[in-house]
Amino acid sequence: MMAFEFATAHRIRFGWGVFEESGRIASMLGNVAFLVRGKYHPDQDRLRDLLRENQVLFHEFIVDGEPTVDLVKQAVAQAIEGGCNCVIGFGGGSVIDTAKAVSAMLTNPGQLEDYLEVIGAGKTLEVPAAPCLAIPTTAGTGSEVTRNAVLGIPDVAIKVSLRSPLMLPAVALVDPALTRSVPPSITAYTGMDALTQVLEPYVSVRANVMTDMFCREGLQRVSKALPAAFKDGADQEARKTMAWVSLLGGLALANAGLGAVHGLAAPIGGMFKAPHGAICARLLPLVVRTNLKALRSRQPENPALERYREIAGWLTQRPDAQPEDGVAWLEQMVSQFGIPGLGTYGMTRQDIPVVVERSLRASSMKGNPIPLTSDELTAILEDAL
Ligand code: NAD
Repeated sequence: MMAFEFATAHRIRFGWGVFEESGRIASMLGNVAFLVRGKYHPDQDRLRDLLRENQVLFHEFIVDGEPTVDLVKQAVAQAIEGGCNCVIGFGGGSVIDTAKAVSAMLTNPGQLEDYLEVIGAGKTLEVPAAPCLAIPTTAGTGSEVTRNAVLGIPDVAIKVSLRSPLMLPAVALVDPALTRSVPPSITAYTGMDALTQVLEPYVSVRANVMTDMFCREGLQRVSKALPAAFKDGADQEARKTMAWVSLLGGLALANAGLGAVHGLAAPIGGMFKAPHGAICARLLPLVVRTNLKALRSRQPENPALERYREIAGWLTQRPDAQPEDGVAWLEQMVSQFGIPGLGTYGMTRQDIPVVVERSLRASSMKGNPIPLTSDELTAILEDAL
């Protein structure tokens, strides 16, 4: 068995209704919380009540859209001014990433940029982040159990990650009931992100026995739950399963890496205002098809080929399914969910060389089961427009 490392949140609490414990759990982490949340959630008043009942003072900060370096710097300044000693992220991946970045910068010296690659020195975080309670309200990113925060820098049109095992949240509190209010389109693209995050680590060059367990579990459950949650947002079983798949994806990606979908999604997300999950959804069947072709022609003995066959069986629920049946199933989801082409977000053929060049340097690309050539990546993007 190969050597591996596995790290996750200090504590994970999962279940329908566990949100009611959030005030008590927060009070164990600190007495002045920096509460990062999205613009609106039907349970936001209840969260305030739960914090008050547990004598936790709080300062609120709203995140509307995917976070940027400047936004996090503003948040850190407010958290320091408010004397906050813990952070709560109550929202989608954008909110939780902001909360994790604030936690890290509350305890580490210097400026956020010092710790970022490309625009700064890429220094390593050395001090454990302030305790963070991550409460996801979408079922997609798994950010509540990952060690990074994805931040945009609009001036140079890139997205970078602040990354360290010291950023893992103290507590991940996953209550699927909080996702009931997510509308169908966001259910679809965040759900496709969750699916991608159990699929890519399963064929990643860094896959290990521990992450394989999580991926298999997620891949076996996602194919019924995702269309069901899309069709009926009140379907409790489907919402529970999708929150579970999202959590599994976070556990897997943080420890086995990802692949070409995320390698391409990183520069596209920096250059265009497109939801992360929608980009992943559009790319996923195209990347799987390209990987299959590349593996068969250049590395026919690569075990990822057999893994793609297993994945196809789980997605189609047919044990005799071939890898191409899995691709067809993914394509059908993209069409059923109405996932648009990347051209919708302003991307054109002229942008493709820059995206390809940047993607080859993206950390996720290194997990892809086979290195893809610039020509192969270009063809994927042409089809994704
Ligand atoms: P999001 O957080 O941007 O939210 C999408 C939309 O859904 C927003 O408009 C938000 O207000 C709304 N929303 C959230 N919860 C809702 C609810 N319960 N009801 C109704 N509306 C709700 O989307 P996301 O896909 O969760 O997160 C995307 C971000 O996460 C991107 O920046 C991406 O790069 C990042 N990400 C991070 C990791 C990680 O490990 N750190 C992994 C994957 C993606």
